[in-house]
Amino acid sequence: MKEDAEQKRTKRNLFLFGVGILSFIILIAAASITIAFLYIIFNDKDFDAYGISFIALTAFALLVTVATVVFLYHFVQQSQTLIDSLNRVASGDYGTEIKYSRRSTFKKVYVNFNNMTKELRSVKSMREDFVHNFSHEVKTPLFSIQGFANLLAEGGLSEEEQKKLLGIISEEAGRLIRLADNNLILSKIENQHILGERKPIKLDSEINDCIILLEREWSGKDIEISSELEPLKTTGDGVMLRQIWINLLSNAVKFTPEGGKIEVTLKKSGDYAVAAFADTGVGIPAEELPHIFDKYYRARSAEGKEGSGLGLAICKRICELSGGKIEAANRAGGGAVFTVTLPL
Ligand code: ADP
Repeated sequence: MKEDAEQKRTKRNLFLFGVGILSFIILIAAASITIAFLYIIFNDKDFDAYGISFIALTAFALLVTVATVVFLYHFVQQSQTLIDSLNRVASGDYGTEIKYSRRSTFKKVYVNFNNMTKELRSVKSMREDFVHNFSHEVKTPLFSIQGFANLLAEGGLSEEEQKKLLGIISEEAGRLIRLADNNLILSKIENQHILGERKPIKLDSEINDCIILLEREWSGKDIEISSELEPLKTTGDGVMLRQIWINLLSNAVKFTPEGGKIEVTLKKSGDYAVAAFADTGVGIPAEELPHIFDKYYRARSAEGKEGSGLGLAICKRICELSGGKIEAANRAGGGAVFTVTLPL
């Protein structure tokens, strides 16, 4: 819509510019003819009609030349600004921004250029954040494993202490395996256009199984889970769909403080099944909502919590491959709600 208005304005300006030039030519021609006629009417013998016309036309030609030179100078200068800025971006300076006035001939191009560099800056910072987060995610468990293994090697620990350390080592190794698994799953489904084998699936019992599977996590945080699941069937890749339920439930548990509540519902809406996972957790900062399904993206509110920013990207891709969609929102009373819509 905005683009159309911009194009219309450019066309209108060009039209006005053409009309201006044409009027100017007509005005000069009319003036020369009038002067020539006036002198003929008053029968001035000394009057040189051709001479006057020649002077008028020469003046006009001069004016047109000056106007063209000024316009070309302006045009070349603005093109040069664009070329210089593109060269700066090509050499890696994504901080480049073109300053322009409201009347700039290339205003639209400059606006798009500035949007492009803004986007490049955000991609660059996302990449840096990812490298930072990813290294952190890998290094933290590795350090723990190394530290606790050293402690065990030193000896002198009671059997109970040894058991505790071995438990932590196994948990940290699990974290690394999950990270590797998520990376593998995502890179696999990113290049897939259809999901694996399609089988009849009872959505309500699948979701219920996942709630039970994660019981240790939610009951450990004293979180209350309520579920209202309509018995609904679909056909799809059950293993992949399970990834969605597990990721959404684990996130709800992870981002909900102790004593919170999670509500899971499954309802039919037309030809679709709609599953919603609502929690009473930290919610998602409004400006970050559009990004949370991006690969490796983690909202500010996730700081200090385990994760790699892959879970929701996986959910989104599986939903797309299943012909459905996933949406996120904040709840009025606080907390987040994720809604998955799948064809029945
Ligand atoms: P992560 O491994 O960080 O959980 P996800 O891809 O699953 O990665 O989620 C991406 C980000 O979305 C999280 O880091 C968090 O900021 C936000 N998020 C996901 N689920 C919730 C939730 N239930 N409540 C609040 N924020 C959430």
